[in-house]
Amino acid sequence: MKIIKKLITIIVLTFILFFVIDETFTSYNKEILIINEDKFNSITVGSKINYKEYITDESESNTKLIEEFISEGMNVDDFKNTLTKSTYYIESTEKYKKINYDFEKHYSYEELEKIYLNLVKSDIVKLEVIGRSFDGRNLYSIEIGTGKDQTMFEGNIHAAEIAPALYLTKYAVDLVNSYESGDKETIELLKNHKIIILPSANPDGYDYSVKGKEVLNKTNSYVYINDNLIDNDYYKANINGVDLNRNFPTQTGGLYYKGEDLYYTVSREKSTKKLEYFPGDELGSEPETRAMIYWMYKNYKNTHAYIAVHSAGRVVYDGEQYLSNTFNKLSNACSTIVNEYSGYFQLGIEADEGQGIEGTSTDMIGEIAHGYKFSTETGRLSTSKYGEKAKNMEQEMCVLTIETLENYTKDLDIIKEEYYDMEISNIFSDIVTID
Ligand SMILES: [Zn+2]
Repeated sequence: MKIIKKLITIIVLTFILFFVIDETFTSYNKEILIINEDKFNSITVGSKINYKEYITDESESNTKLIEEFISEGMNVDDFKNTLTKSTYYIESTEKYKKINYDFEKHYSYEELEKIYLNLVKSDIVKLEVIGRSFDGRNLYSIEIGTGKDQTMFEGNIHAAEIAPALYLTKYAVDLVNSYESGDKETIELLKNHKIIILPSANPDGYDYSVKGKEVLNKTNSYVYINDNLIDNDYYKANINGVDLNRNFPTQTGGLYYKGEDLYYTVSREKSTKKLEYFPGDELGSEPETRAMIYWMYKNYKNTHAYIAVHSAGRVVYDGEQYLSNTFNKLSNACSTIVNEYSGYFQLGIEADEGQGIEGTSTDMIGEIAHGYKFSTETGRLSTSKYGEKAKNMEQEMCVLTIETLENYTKDLDIIKEEYYDMEISNIFSDIVTID
């Protein structure tokens, strides 16, 4: 008996030890500043997403069109866990003070976070941490407004595209400053609308682009190790070498060949070249992608517009060949707003075929809005009529990819000029209020 007791004790102790060691290793990074400062509270919230609504055992009936995938589908349990995980809201009891956003400043991600923490001091703002990046940084969803009609903005999914993170931060700051100053129009706007902003979907990539590899926590990460081969002015992927904007488990995510066409810019492995997009060995593999999947499912209902902000090219993409006419019509109306202010060239469904464009965040939200379900068989969103154009859209919304700026740049003068000259904030506000 004694021996058995001893054995049990040893086993239990070993488990505890393993757990403790594991915890120490995973919490190497600053347990994000917020929680340690007592003027902020974090409120953990369980997911209210009913994942069963979004899963099916069926797969598309015609998979012959798909010749070859690079990536495996997303693991079913990973998908379920993504939708059912807990996240937390950050709250503050302090009074809001006007925030000065400085366009002349190369903010580090930590400095951007401080802005978000100051935003949450306003009653009109809710701040949700929707997940954590590969290197341990928080991904923030800033909700501004109490209205039912929602617009979602995503920025900086590509590492070197830092302008979108700055534009969206500036837009959020201006809205909240204006609301707090008692501006009647803004108060009315935020009573009827809710603006949901993910300023940086790739915070590790942001910091790497702005500050270099020294700010990364994981010295064994792909980017840290290959830093001397990477041109960080153009780097797109996360610091694990996966292009987040190809990592979504959409119907044709991770596609390599289609018919006779070789999707040559899609890479089969992690790459340091600037125009190769690696979708990951498995779709939905990256923590940033998972945070976004959760974010999309949580918010897509009541959302009338989803805007992905990128750089560069001064182009706006709308429409998807295989999605409904309603979707294409709505998206075109939104992209026309962008064109009218900025002159950015509009590219519609004719641009939706070609090299390695499958598995993006905009594909994902578009398919979710059409009611496509996650297939346990393929690990991808799926319709039973693959190859046919979707007829109905369950949640009517426009979906855009806006490529701001002429060229990739970290030059703040150029970024600032573009923001004002192209009236980026007016573009955003008009899309928020489009009928
Ligand atoms: Zn991009």
